[in-house]
Amino acid sequence: MGWAWFSIILVASIFLAQFYWWIWIIVVLLILGGLGILIGGDKNKKCAWCDGTKIKFKNGVEGPWYWEHENKDGSRDKRFKDNFQVAQYKSNFSCEECGATTKFVHFLDKAPSADVKVRTRILSTKGSGERKGTNWPN
Ligand SMILES: [Zn+2]
Repeated sequence: MGWAWFSIILVASIFLAQFYWWIWIIVVLLILGGLGILIGGDKNKKCAWCDGTKIKFKNGVEGPWYWEHENKDGSRDKRFKDNFQVAQYKSNFSCEECGATTKFVHFLDKAPSADVKVRTRILSTKGSGERKGTNWPN
């Protein structure tokens, strides 16, 4: 669910809550859920060397674009009116704690970026000290 939709549903719920008291329960749950996503973030987006979460975006690149519904040759499947394109994103993050670089591959998304949920985590360059982190999935 995108943040735009989240905001619309939240505002609509607050509006309706003026007429039905129990809708406040939904409003509170929505806010708590939203906060949880904001604070919790992506648990797999961490340093592959020290397991730390203080990592900084270094660089990234978009992968090739695919149609959500595509023909066998990769062209657009015109039977789907709401067809759209998605792309993978690969990013490099450097760790502020150990200096290691971790490479992430993100899920396919309409708006590929380093903020999209992580699919794989691979150590790119070693950090200082002993390794506590892992590649994911192993
Ligand atoms: Zn680290």
